[in-house]
Amino acid sequence: MDTPPLSHQAKNKPDGSVQTEQPATAPTFERSERFWLDDGNIVLLCGATGFRVHRTVLAMHSPVFRDMFAYADGADDTIDGCPAVHLQDEPAALTTLLESLYSLGSSRQYENLDVLERLLHMATKYMMAAPRRAAVAQLKEFFPTDLARYQRAAASPLRGIALARQYDLPGILPAACYGAALLPAARLLGGGAADLALVARDTLMRYIYENGVVHQFEHYKPALRACVRRGPGGAQCVGVDEDAAGLVEKRYRQLEFDVLSENFEEIVGEVFDLMQGTGYFTCDECKRAVEEAGADVRKAVWRILPSLCSLGTWDNVKEMQDKSDANWSQLSSD
Ligand SMILES: [Zn+2]
Repeated sequence: MDTPPLSHQAKNKPDGSVQTEQPATAPTFERSERFWLDDGNIVLLCGATGFRVHRTVLAMHSPVFRDMFAYADGADDTIDGCPAVHLQDEPAALTTLLESLYSLGSSRQYENLDVLERLLHMATKYMMAAPRRAAVAQLKEFFPTDLARYQRAAASPLRGIALARQYDLPGILPAACYGAALLPAARLLGGGAADLALVARDTLMRYIYENGVVHQFEHYKPALRACVRRGPGGAQCVGVDEDAAGLVEKRYRQLEFDVLSENFEEIVGEVFDLMQGTGYFTCDECKRAVEEAGADVRKAVWRILPSLCSLGTWDNVKEMQDKSDANWSQLSSD
């Protein structure tokens, strides 16, 4: 940047004399609506916003603030008798951090990835374990390590990958890579996480080709074919015919569907409807067999998710995440 920082900028007064703006002895600022606490004893200045908070609370949770405040007493800047400290953060980012620290953030606001990223950034920067844990816990909800907790497209997978890399969160990488693998290739190319996303897509595609849905159907087919149950009107159960199974397979191979979400039941339901329309009958037990096949496909795909991002097995992933959590707790104060 060409312009020097504002506080050191010299300004020409109308009478021709030059006045150097004082850094911050009498700063003009607005009080934070949320964090101007009556009994606060330190003022944090972010741009044009002042936050009056408790120095012991911040120091207790953050070695960075602790060190910073150690020098604050000798500082010239005071506001309302409190030492004032300048931070280079956005006011919104500090607000998010303080909300988490003072337990004033709502769980709903962390469903917004922007807010979550802000919290993660600030908690990491100031080495605050509790707010960071809150952010990481929510990210793990978006990108879980357990199939039972997986929800389709809970958050942008490309941002998930970027956050996993930036903040050393291997635990969220497999589910994020899976989400990215389902995105149209054209969307991956422009994204910041394109390298890993394309590898994930390729690996998943290969896996589905080699061990895909049709294979699972074939595994259950002997039972389906042997079915002699009859439906209303005496129609004999045909189980799932090959065209229908092939239709399911084809849509998965295009990565058009999220195998891990409830879409499997939806698409199988569609297939049954299609067959019903042509006068075929499939009994309830055969339908259940197909659903079981679906559950097997899901478990098998879930098992290989870590390999989409070259992390080996889920055990490896959990080990790495535990290590990262432990390292981080050690670095920070609590
Ligand atoms: Zn049947």
